[in-house]
Amino acid sequence: MTGALVVVATPIGNLADLSPRAVTELAAADIVACEDTRHTGRLLAHAGVKATRLLAVHEHNEAQRAAELVDVIAAGGTVAVVTDAGTPGISDPGTRLVAAAAAAGHDVRVVPGPAAFVAALVVSGLPTDRFVFEGFLPRKGAERARVLSDIAAERRTIVFYESPRRVAATVAELRRHLGPDRRVALARELTKLHEEVWRGTLGEAVDHVAESTARGEYVVVLDGAPEPMAATDTDIVEALADLRSGGVGTRDAAAQVAADLGVSRRRAYELAIRE
Ligand code: SAM
Repeated sequence: MTGALVVVATPIGNLADLSPRAVTELAAADIVACEDTRHTGRLLAHAGVKATRLLAVHEHNEAQRAAELVDVIAAGGTVAVVTDAGTPGISDPGTRLVAAAAAAGHDVRVVPGPAAFVAALVVSGLPTDRFVFEGFLPRKGAERARVLSDIAAERRTIVFYESPRRVAATVAELRRHLGPDRRVALARELTKLHEEVWRGTLGEAVDHVAESTARGEYVVVLDGAPEPMAATDTDIVEALADLRSGGVGTRDAAAQVAADLGVSRRRAYELAIRE
């Protein structure tokens, strides 16, 4: 008897996005681990899946449930894991269960499907070749300040989740940190009746969200930071002069300017001794 854990993606709004393979795996599973048994019960009823045992697995009991479910798999059972929307493990429970099943040497499979961050990224119109996903930003304090400063310097496209209650404050904070010109897309209610993808700059976004009474959870997609302008010889010479007038020695000044302006030490040193 070989059991398995199957990670099953479910719709983020439109039930037609539930894949045929997702239905097959959910119907075949001995247990469906889910966040909310009523919510997933309705999904299974819609898909015509009956007689599957539903078990609530959420942030607070995932570690304990993982041990129980690994025992079910060890005894030959198949466990499917879903969440309320999208892909398990993406800002949702599932990761601990996968790690526990994999660590115990069991088969772990995936039925890929909707994930709000991928959907938002691909309709944002912003570069998709390199991006970072931040989940939900920390709500406040030093951790939020650190993430915002990382985002300000990040060259890759940045994607994160945001609630409608907080989106106006977050957009205003981003505008203060990143300036008004950074491009942004706000994706809301994707795949649903009132789907909206708004595209503009952070400066325009502040007005847009202030005027909007729209509900629904958001995905925020931000363009990466622009490439810094390459330093010219004049920039280097001026920076060197600044440091040296403060008493810094030639070698140290060259090293510091090289680090600050992203140029080679050798170039900074050669300009330093040419003066
Ligand atoms: N596991 C999910 C996934 O794969 O995308 C994400 C779960 S996370 C708890 C929920 C967040 O995802 C929401 O707050 C919202 O930011 C985003 N989200 C989920 N469905 C969405 C949709 N239809 N449109 C826009 N954002 C959505």
